[in-house]
Amino acid sequence: MSICMIGGGGFIGSHLCEKLMAETSHKAVVVDVSSEKINHLLGESHPWSSRIEFHHMNIKNDSRLETLIKASDLTINLAAICTPADYNTRPLDTIFSNFIDAIPVIKYCTDNNKRLIHFSTCEVYGKTIGSFLPHEFRKDPKYYMLKEDVSPCIFGPVEKQRWSYACAKQMTDRLIYAEHAENGLKFTIVRPYNWIGPRMDFIPGVDGPCDGVPRVLACFSNNLLRGEPLKLVDGGRSQRTFLYVKDAIEAVLLMIDNPERANGQIFNVGNPDNEVSVKELAELMIQVYAKVASVPASSLSTLDVSSEEFYGKGYDDSDRRIPDMTIITRQLGIQ
Ligand code: NAD
Ligand code: UDP
Repeated sequence: MSICMIGGGGFIGSHLCEKLMAETSHKAVVVDVSSEKINHLLGESHPWSSRIEFHHMNIKNDSRLETLIKASDLTINLAAICTPADYNTRPLDTIFSNFIDAIPVIKYCTDNNKRLIHFSTCEVYGKTIGSFLPHEFRKDPKYYMLKEDVSPCIFGPVEKQRWSYACAKQMTDRLIYAEHAENGLKFTIVRPYNWIGPRMDFIPGVDGPCDGVPRVLACFSNNLLRGEPLKLVDGGRSQRTFLYVKDAIEAVLLMIDNPERANGQIFNVGNPDNEVSVKELAELMIQVYAKVASVPASSLSTLDVSSEEFYGKGYDDSDRRIPDMTIITRQLGIQ
């Protein structure tokens, strides 16, 4: 199978490329503005060299995109601006990247009768119902488990531009669903829940901008490497479920190889049993770093900061993100 991977040079794309090259006979046609994270897979010396090609391309303004989609059996769209620090500081880029720029990709897939696997996000669910209820009600899973076919999407007001990303992603999901309903587009929508692993984001000032704010794992790693306190936004109360990227990629490969079971589905992909608060995550990372760097854990600390101080005006947060895995378990046998 020939797979056009838009945004395939990023964190998730790089792991998917590794998997496709090492364990399948599929061909990857990678489209991205950067190849930095997949350079180790490119070049003549690899046994898979004839099965991977890189196209340096910005999908906003490149007419070659339709030709590449047309020549492939499957398109996987990973391209996005997807770091929360950008949502309220670069809201236009965020909306364009996650909605407007996806429109031609969806159209080319429909027009050419090509299958599309599109990367959405767990953030489309926004806040849980439980976050609005008194504490005693929050213990019931029906108020916090996120189900693809049942849960509402609960965002804050327009001035809270944090939700521009989630709204843009949701509109794209709805557009794909409408193309499926009216024009027969064969689609799968993937909602990742905080996938983590090597090559995720950047360390500010080392392999990214000095003033950049990556996602939480890279922020805390940066703090530890610099001997700074780990900053807990609004006390680090928010909770997340984390999943190792290589486990997640197993699920994506099942979607690629089982179109009859994956087409027409929206899949949560996460680990419901791996929930921690951001504060607990910081404490865990301090313990691990103290061990590997042979420094006393007592020399490492956390610092409470307000979200406005850390991210600026317009930030808001999801309280919890626990995936219901019923649909992916039923369709693809994933536990
Ligand atoms: P990433 O930023 O590492 O990868 C995105 C890639 O898209 C980058 O390499 C970027 O250069 C490329 N890109 C962006 N705009 C482009 C354009 N106009 N033209 C060409 N290339 C462009 O992010 P990731 O973590 O690999 O995420 C991939 C997808 O999964 C995104 O859609 C993201 O919203 C979604 N997602 C990821 C997570 C996670 O846990 N990592 C969680 C929720 C959703
Ligand atoms: N966060 C934090 N300190 C940091 C970076 C992030 O407390 O240095 C918090 C952030 O406010 C959010 C959580 O960690 O509650 C996860 O943030 P991330 O940027 O990884 O993405 P999200 O899961 O919100 O999409």
